[in-house]
Amino acid sequence: MRKIIFKSLVQAPLTEKPPAADAAALAELAQRLDQAARQRLGRSLSIRQVDAGSCNGCELEIHALNNAFYDLERFGLRFVASPRHADVLLVTGPVTANMREALERTYRATPGPKWVVAVGDCAFDGGVFAGSYACVGGVSAVVPVDLHIRGCPPSPTALLGGLLALLEHSAE
Ligand code: SF4
Repeated sequence: MRKIIFKSLVQAPLTEKPPAADAAALAELAQRLDQAARQRLGRSLSIRQVDAGSCNGCELEIHALNNAFYDLERFGLRFVASPRHADVLLVTGPVTANMREALERTYRATPGPKWVVAVGDCAFDGGVFAGSYACVGGVSAVVPVDLHIRGCPPSPTALLGGLLALLEHSAE
């Protein structure tokens, strides 16, 4: 035991250092997103996340938007608990047969104007789960999709960029 403690004191950690974060670029992106939401909706954007059957890798990146570094709420963007309060449905995963009805009901419960954003390669076409007996397919196989954000999983910055493109494009 003493040997292990001594080794851990002298040895450098095996994990890699995180990449340098560009806080200024991130803040600019989130501010543009909030401005676009206020122009389009007259208020900030409310997001409801729906896990339609993902491996939870995409959720980890989405959750990161709320951590101390990204802290999305400081720009007025927020995740809501009910689709009735949402402008955007952020849907992850291939849609599993068991989640199909829940996704359809969530879509119907969301008031217009509403947007559906399919997050991750699985949400695009089933990804690594395509062809499984338990999956219906990508999100667009069940509800209309306004934007796909590809990646396995997409980074928080890619998520913000995607939401910004959605609002700027829909305002045209
Ligand atoms: S896209 Fe990748 S991270 Fe996201 S649910 Fe599919 S396998 Fe998991």
